[in-house]
Formats: sequence, structure tokens, C-alpha cells
Amino acid sequence: MKRVIVGGISHETSTFTPVATTLQSYLERFLLRGGEILEVLRGTNTPIGGFIDGAAQHGFELIPTLFAEANTSAPTPRPLFDRLVNELLAGIEAAGSVDGVLLQLHGSMCAGDLDGPDGVPDAEGYILAKIRQTVGPGVPILAELDIHSNVTPLMVEMADVLIGRKSYPEVDMAERARECADVLARIWHAGLRPTMALHQIPMVWGMNQVTAHSPMREAIAELERIKALPGVICVSIATCYFLADVPDMGSSVYVVTDNNRGAAQRHADALGQWCYERRADWHFDMPPTREALALAQSAGRFPVIFADMRDNTGGGSPGDSTGMLRAFLEAGLRDACVLNITDPEAVQQCNAAGVGATLTLDVGGKASALQGEPVRMTARVAALSDGKFRYDGPMFAGLENNLGPSAHIEQNGIHVLLTTLREQPFDTAFARTLQLDPRRMRYIGVKSAAHFRAGFESWAGSIHVVSEPSVHNLGHLPFKRLNRRLYPFHPE
Ligand SMILES: [Zn+2]
Repeated sequence: MKRVIVGGISHETSTFTPVATTLQSYLERFLLRGGEILEVLRGTNTPIGGFIDGAAQHGFELIPTLFAEANTSAPTPRPLFDRLVNELLAGIEAAGSVDGVLLQLHGSMCAGDLDGPDGVPDAEGYILAKIRQTVGPGVPILAELDIHSNVTPLMVEMADVLIGRKSYPEVDMAERARECADVLARIWHAGLRPTMALHQIPMVWGMNQVTAHSPMREAIAELERIKALPGVICVSIATCYFLADVPDMGSSVYVVTDNNRGAAQRHADALGQWCYERRADWHFDMPPTREALALAQSAGRFPVIFADMRDNTGGGSPGDSTGMLRAFLEAGLRDACVLNITDPEAVQQCNAAGVGATLTLDVGGKASALQGEPVRMTARVAALSDGKFRYDGPMFAGLENNLGPSAHIEQNGIHVLLTTLREQPFDTAFARTLQLDPRRMRYIGVKSAAHFRAGFESWAGSIHVVSEPSVHNLGHLPFKRLNRRLYPFHPE
């Protein structure tokens, strides 16, 4: 039976956030070793869940090594990064001779002090190079990447096959991983010889990239058209992760063909050019909540969801900005909720007061002055929880998560979920554990760029993407390491 390594180190790294990355950040998300990886992720809509399905379907054995993942935050300190990489490599070495490597990587990780000699701006390139050194040139290395990757030439050189997600919200995590397993089986059994090429587009992709809607739907259709051409194995578009000041930050297209690198490059160039020609289409204006509220009231399609993409914890923001909450309070909304505000201090106060108590507390605005002033509320504690729940929406369906001690507070019909750990809402499961059903609300505020759509869009009356002050407002991001001029920073 063929033996295949499975594992990965996955982190989306913001070089602009004050949220530090520590060993605890990995422990809060995933730091799984050996058989634990398979136990925890089997049957879940996650990349490793998909590798497990693929192994069962194609009848190969998985050798689980290390899987480490933390929520988006600052660069991983170099000693911790080295420890994780060395553990992954030790697991691969201990496995002896293998027939392939399946990895979950993000594609926009960095580690260490990027201004110092220990900085690793391209962590995936580094990890792939180390694995290549360990397994040698003959063992296929395949990795699944996030759609928000900053893909580098080194990554493409060191891996045999990279496959990026092509849905946003990223509900196709397991599906893309099964595709990696399919390609691996074709390498063994159909004599496939993957050749990969990269086209780096001189462009930051704006947030107009939800794949169910135009214009992103057309980009994915173009991707599928190229994928169907003879000799093409897989085609991926990376819409980049722009909160990273690293040389290779930017969008890209990467294509794998069967033993024809020239064709791979031509297809990548053509699709990259197609995307660049439409560069203005991927950007849209985001009004503040106050303006979006006025629009929503006149359109009258409820429930209405306001998505503050600037304080998206999934993008590395602290999750405690107060602009949206303040707009809700000032408008005197009822049947309104804000999901979620990260504020361990406020949760503690609620816990001390107890369910049913009314207390005066300062909510949010504590991580950075850029997140807005704290909001003074006099609120009733509607519910408390330990933060444990299981996702039941399409994204991460079946996976358990834990946001730490959490509280549901309410003031005059405005409900706020306070959490200890940062997380955006992917579905309504967490809110329901705190006796809040967002579907019964008229106004719903989420701190999420698009992933909330997986569990909310099907029943929403309307959705407005808004922008409130946060550490991630583009206006004050001081880029200094980019290796190319990028649209829209340089409009030409
Ligand atoms: Zn992503």
C-alpha cells in the first residue's frame, strides 16, 4: 500500500496587526500530533478532512505528522516557527520511505522579525524547501492553499502541485484536498508528470471576490474553461492577502499541466492578464455603518446584515472595534445584534455579575487606539457560556471550536456577543449556544469580510459591506518591502 505523509503548518500572517502569535495561539486553534490529526479532522469540511477522504477513496495509507494552525495574527516568532518546522520534518524523517506528501499550507505565512536576519517572509517556500530536502526530488509534494495566498516562485519550484481554493467563502476546503489526493493517484497510476508555472499579477485583489456573485463568478468560469483544456491538470487564482508587507505580496495565477511547463506558463499568463485587465472590477467602495443603515432602511429588505470587513478577525484584526456597535446604538435600533466583539475583560465582568444581572461596562476598543473608543453600555447579561460549540453551517461543518468564556449582553434590544478568543461567525451555531438566534433579528452586524456568507447569506434579506476604523484600514498601512508596483497603490 502506498504511504503518504499528511500534515501542515498553516497561518495567515498580518504584518500590521498588534495581535501577537504565540504557542497559545496554536493551542487555541490546532496543534495536533500523529493520530490526533486524523481523529479530530476526519469527517470535517477541512483540508485534512479532505485528504482523509481521498486516502480512503484511493486506498493509500496516511502517515500523520504535525498539524499546526493559528488564527490570523502577527508573524510567528522564529524560535516557535523553527520548533514547528523541525517537528514536522522529524515526523517525515521518522516515516522512512514514502510515496507522497500532502500538506495543508496557507500561502501567506511569515515568521520572525522581518526587519532582522531571522525574518522568513515566505514561510511556505521555506517549509516546502525543507521538506523537498528531506524527501528528495522523486517524492511528489502536493499542497492545498488558501485563496488568499501570496504565492512565490520558491513555493512553485519546491512543490510538485499547489491547488488553491476557488470558492469564497472557502467552503471547498475538503473538495480541493480531495483533488490533491486525486492528482497524487494519477501521478502513481496514470503516469502524470506535473509541471507548474506561476504568473504574479501586479495587483492587490479588492474585496469584490465572493465567488457566487459577478464579477468573481466570471473569473472562476474563466479558470474552469482553462482547466478543461487538454493537458491542464489544475488552475488556481490567488486573490492575495494584502495585510502582509512582504516582497511577494500580490495576486497570482498558478497552473499545473502534464509534462509541459511552457503550456502551464502560457495559461497562467493568459488568465493573469484576464484578471489584470478587469482590475478595477475587484474593488468596491465601503461606506460606514451609519450610511449603510440609511440605505438599508429605505430598501426595506430584512433581516439586513452589515459586515465590517475592516475588523475581521479572520484577517488578523483584534475584533474589538466599536464603530458598528456605536452606529447601532446611535440609531436606536431594536432586534439588532453584533457578532462578535472580542473582549475578555468585559466577559469577566459579565461572569462576575451573573445571568440576569444588569451592569455598566465598557465594551471593546481596548486592543489599539485605532479600534475606536470603548462603548459604555448598561446592559443585561442574557446568557453566559464556556465558548464551546460545533459548527453546523457549510463551512467547517462538524468541527468543534472554543471561543473561551463568552457572554450575551443586551441593552434596549441591541444584543452583543462578547468572546474571550477572536473568531468571526461562519454560521449561527455559536450564537445559538448563547440563546441568540440571529435569524430572529432585524439588524445583524458581523465582523467578517465574506466567510459569514456561508452560514448567513441564504436567509439574509440584504447584505451591506461596511468599513469602520480599525488597525487594518488601508489608508495607514506603511508598505516598504513590496518587490513590484501593485494596483491600486500604483494605478497604472
Ligand atoms: Zn482565506
